[in-house]
Amino acid sequence: MTRARRLRIFVLIDALGWTYVEDSRFLADLLPYRTPLRTFLGYSSGAVPSILTGVPPARHGHWNLFYRDPARSPFRWLRALRFLPDAALNHRVTRKLLKELGRRFLGLGPLFECAVSPRLLPELDWIEKRNIYAPGGIPGTQSIFDFLVDQWTPHRVYSYHRWTDAEILRQAGRDIESSDATFFFLYLSEMDALLHSHCQDRAAWQGRLEWYATGLRDLLSAARRVDPDATLTVFSDHGMAPVRHHYDLVTHVGSLGLRMPDDYLAVYDSTMARFWLFSDRARAQIVKHLHTVPCGRVLSDDELRELGVFFPDRRYGEVVFLLNPGWLLSNSDFNGIDWRPTGMHGYHPDDSYSDGVCLGTHKPTVDLRTIADAYRCMRGAVPAGAAVEGQHAP
Ligand SMILES: [Zn+2]
Repeated sequence: MTRARRLRIFVLIDALGWTYVEDSRFLADLLPYRTPLRTFLGYSSGAVPSILTGVPPARHGHWNLFYRDPARSPFRWLRALRFLPDAALNHRVTRKLLKELGRRFLGLGPLFECAVSPRLLPELDWIEKRNIYAPGGIPGTQSIFDFLVDQWTPHRVYSYHRWTDAEILRQAGRDIESSDATFFFLYLSEMDALLHSHCQDRAAWQGRLEWYATGLRDLLSAARRVDPDATLTVFSDHGMAPVRHHYDLVTHVGSLGLRMPDDYLAVYDSTMARFWLFSDRARAQIVKHLHTVPCGRVLSDDELRELGVFFPDRRYGEVVFLLNPGWLLSNSDFNGIDWRPTGMHGYHPDDSYSDGVCLGTHKPTVDLRTIADAYRCMRGAVPAGAAVEGQHAP
């Protein structure tokens, strides 16, 4: 007799903040166990690896996408083109070429964006070169996908690397019915873009939540036809805060009379600016200036340590400046003139809009406090000695 398949389904919905579900009825009947999860300071590039490995960014090594490594930068050769004027280097076509080059020929993966001035690229490297949703995707740390392979647990993983959210839900439904997999991991990424543009439009995000609710309800029904005790757990990596104000730190720092990359290097994300300082003059002027900014602050090493994002080699920046919730850096390379988001994440985890969620059909077997606890929750769902004779890990 065939042993019954025990189905465990985990769904990661990018940017599904606690503030968007705490008062709504989003799957309240199916998923009665609901709790906010504290995120880590930063963006999905650091948060998702924490969900997949159970440790903070300082331990798994992924934080922001760009980090400084001039000796190993895949763009070292661009130094030879430094004589070119900014107009040529920063041209839209140059950036597009560099993006394609990075993705196709330099092994930087499908997420690579030329989101800094090409003049600075020879100083930098890109963290997410591998597919983090595959075994070995986060070198040096065991992810849930490495663990599933180790345990010979038949499983399926779905992400934007291959599919849209609608395709993922459809494909997972089919695999639940017809494959031998017992562990399913679905990464649904499209809520993030919706909330960036519509987080202040309740009807828009509620409509999208209803769409997800229908898809997940169908998925769980399909699973329960196979295994009446099938479980479904939804979690997210961070929330989304409404953007109320903009601050042009880029222009202010640029007008201090210092030169990049000779005096300093700065990478401006949406809510965070990271600096490497190469002269005493640059250090004194930039730090002094940052202390005058009214809508943000420099994070101390102790605070970075406490937040799980302190890197002793300073690869992600010697000075980390964080904006207050609701503020956005204007003119940063990540927020070009074409993009005016009304929602943003990447603020301090203490802000309630930063919280992610865990929503489950069953009471969690582990104490859930941060997004890293999602890993322990998934790991606990992998049956010990799951290998069945004749079955092979995918
Ligand atoms: Zn986002």
